[in-house]
Amino acid sequence: MSALPLSDVQPFSRRGICPALSAPMQTGDGLLSRVAFTGYVSPQDFVTLCTLATRHGNGLVDITARGGLQFRGLTAQSATELERDVLQLGLPIRQGLAVETSPLAGIDQTAIADTRHIVSRIRMLVEKLGLHDRLAAKMSVIVDGGGHVSLGDLLADIRLKAVTLNNRIVWQLMLGGAETKALKAGFLREEQAAPVVIDLLSHLATIGPDVRGRDLDLSTVRAVCAERLLDHDVDFSPQIAPLPYGLMALGDGFFAVGLAPAFGQISADRLASLFQQATVLGVVNVRPGPSHSLIFCGREADCEALLAHAATAGFVTMARDPRSAIAVCPGAPACGSAFMPTHALADHAATECASLLDGSFTLHLSGCAKGCAHPSPALLAFHGSAEGLAFGLSVRVGDSPAAILPFGGQKAALSRLAQLYEKEHKPGETARTFFSRLGTETVSAVLQQDN
Ligand code: SF4
Repeated sequence: MSALPLSDVQPFSRRGICPALSAPMQTGDGLLSRVAFTGYVSPQDFVTLCTLATRHGNGLVDITARGGLQFRGLTAQSATELERDVLQLGLPIRQGLAVETSPLAGIDQTAIADTRHIVSRIRMLVEKLGLHDRLAAKMSVIVDGGGHVSLGDLLADIRLKAVTLNNRIVWQLMLGGAETKALKAGFLREEQAAPVVIDLLSHLATIGPDVRGRDLDLSTVRAVCAERLLDHDVDFSPQIAPLPYGLMALGDGFFAVGLAPAFGQISADRLASLFQQATVLGVVNVRPGPSHSLIFCGREADCEALLAHAATAGFVTMARDPRSAIAVCPGAPACGSAFMPTHALADHAATECASLLDGSFTLHLSGCAKGCAHPSPALLAFHGSAEGLAFGLSVRVGDSPAAILPFGGQKAALSRLAQLYEKEHKPGETARTFFSRLGTETVSAVLQQDN
């Protein structure tokens, strides 16, 4: 059978459209397809997915920051074959609108609320009303019941978060962005949560297919919600939540373990070997989650054994691993837009600048100004450009840079920052506080010292 022309399998033209199995996206290393799961998958099924990644793609897979699984290096022909083979497995693959919740929903007894009923109601009504095709391609709804896995850093058009108010669980409604930046609209009783989300989505759909949750203002949201919105003058400032790595007690003797491939990317063979080990240990359920994590559920001893195996195999298994403080996109050669091989710089930062990566901030290393790996501002934000490595302090990559460094000096420049922090920070001062105190001009001068 002859290969399909690319145009036959890449029908979209809107910028930023989500790649999916049936709509692969062109990247620097071929086509890329993504799947997201709505339920648990067995480690054995993941082994099969890894085999498919090697058979149809270039054998590299990504676990994305939102918990998607990406197959890389596909051709127009192999992307269609991958789609056929994946669908044949009958896995719980998300179709339609992204309505996201914790991978531990319903089994994490540290959560404030079980989100499953609200999530399934939203999904059912979106489907019934045919809303998905009329909404922006990247539209997402997050339903956050709390617990071990934080969803606060993920961008959402519409976010519901369980909070306890006057000894009663209610749902805080937020619009746009990550939780810290979202528009806080008010609170909803549980029975109103899904209908309000549907009404807001319907409202967005009537305005146009490119409108996002962040485009709604408070008066519009209030008009849509009407008397269902409870107005309480309470500040639920989000806490800094730990990354979902390590052993997590769920209650009733059940445990979960979270771990991640470094920088979200790994060879399918190495990943398959981890899933094989999980099978041997009797860990039967796994699901990708936020922060590039894989969340396995099982008995305590089995989870602990899997965690030890994963640490030896080079996975990130604890939040204080310096690699978990770096947001990095695939970069060159995987992405055709990249000006530099980002993973080499990230490796250097993780090994040579570990003192800097104390978990108080995110170091963002981006192959270009698009900033796929970390759409929010980062304390230290670097991106490749035609002129060199652009730097900004507490900015989004793509914002106007404070300094541009030659690519040849980028590793030394990062090392200088680490040495400066080691020598000059006050006792107990985090890297975030230290660099914020120094300010953009001083940090830029240190980075450019040897130029
Ligand atoms: S940020 Fe740029 S280089 Fe990195 S993956 Fe996105 S488009 Fe590619």
